[in-house]
Amino acid sequence: MRTRPLKVALLGCGNVGSEVARIMTTHADDLAARIGAPLELAGVAVRRPSRVREGVDPALITTDATALVKRGDIDVVVEVIGGIEPARTLIATAFEHGASVVSANKALIAQDGPALHAAAGRQGRDLYYEAAVAGAIPLLRPLRESLAGDHVNRVVGIVNGTTNFILDKMDTTGAGYQEALDEATALGYAEADPTADVEGFDAAAKAAILAGIAFHTRVRLDDVYREGMTEVTAADFASAREMACTIKLLAICERAADGGSVTARVHPAMIPRSHPLASVREAYNAVFVESEAAGQLMFYGPGAGGAPTASAVLGDLVAVCRNRLGEATGPGESAYSMLPVSPMGDVVTRYHISLDVADKPGVLAQVATVFAEHGVSIDTVRQQSRQDEGDRACQASLVVVTHRASDAALTGTVEALRTLDTVRGVASMMRVEGE
Ligand code: NAP
Repeated sequence: MRTRPLKVALLGCGNVGSEVARIMTTHADDLAARIGAPLELAGVAVRRPSRVREGVDPALITTDATALVKRGDIDVVVEVIGGIEPARTLIATAFEHGASVVSANKALIAQDGPALHAAAGRQGRDLYYEAAVAGAIPLLRPLRESLAGDHVNRVVGIVNGTTNFILDKMDTTGAGYQEALDEATALGYAEADPTADVEGFDAAAKAAILAGIAFHTRVRLDDVYREGMTEVTAADFASAREMACTIKLLAICERAADGGSVTARVHPAMIPRSHPLASVREAYNAVFVESEAAGQLMFYGPGAGGAPTASAVLGDLVAVCRNRLGEATGPGESAYSMLPVSPMGDVVTRYHISLDVADKPGVLAQVATVFAEHGVSIDTVRQQSRQDEGDRACQASLVVVTHRASDAALTGTVEALRTLDTVRGVASMMRVEGE
């Protein structure tokens, strides 16, 4: 074993960074044995230097992250600050000064992954970010390395623990969205401003990263279709239950049937209770990968939390350090396929549509005609009469489940349905996946 240590600069010492520092200290001997050289924590950059950080030598704390990455003797920079700046500039500077980088920053990688990979490549250094998608779950390395000889066609996952917690509560307790969000906030699963989670931005960043790696192409954040889950209601869950389904916020990355393009999308969807993703409870994450030779694979575990995320960061740290000792680099960006990303309108799936209609003869035939005119074939229709209070007209709710159709055809159908006199409103429209 080499006695001269590999020097690590830690940028950020919050939820994740503090756990990285702790494990580096408590498992120092094991890590040294696995790497072939000891690790030395050479500096820890933070914003608030006076904050007590248990287990971290105060002499290592600095607010000057730039000076730390410019030192020139740092072997690996671990970036766990988050956000775009200053993380992006610090990572670029780290490469310029000869360090490899491990990051947990999904927002930055989804936005600037190609440029950062190029910067790493120019210096012959590594950029690893296993923790950026699905926290502790080994997912990017299996996709990048274990499945490098296979042909991945589809990646479907629950990649945001906060939204899964909320939807799981709505499903199991009958709670509405706000009530379930309040519980998630009280328990620390949702941030004070939950927008990034509940509007699907966090999952969309992960979908962009997953699609790029799975299909060896470039998928930008803007290429990912995104719908949040704030509009999901208790009534949607009741409808889902009648179809033996539940509702999950899914990130879905698919290769087109002809192999010539890909799609990436994030939205709530009904999935059969028999599907493995339906049994993912609380704040857990799970990702289902379908590939040509391996078939169906499922990756499951904690998608967030300080220690679980630090596990993924440390796995990367060990890999990057081994590469440094071997004067090698691991796999960089693989985007040779250069597949176009198709718009959401081209996605083909099934739909559950709930309509408020007048309860009179001929309505069903009218509605069915609109579906047929748009080339959307109906699988099942369920009609329920009701007399709304204060409304003398008789109303009915009509629940239509379609066979597979393109999103464009479905959008056209719903627009046309809204113009019918007999359709009072489209109560909900949700995609049905996993069959
Ligand atoms: P956090 O608790 O907010 O910690 C951020 C750390 O960065 C803090 O130590 C903060 O310093 C420091 N910092 C902020 N701005 C800085 C600056 N300009 N210069 C130097 N230090 C700065 O965040 P986190 O939860 O650990 O998340 C870190 C990263 O991991 C993010 O990219 C996040 O997306 C990713 N991630 C987190 C989880 C999770 O469960 N938390 C899961 C997967 C991925 P102070 O301590 O002084 O405030």
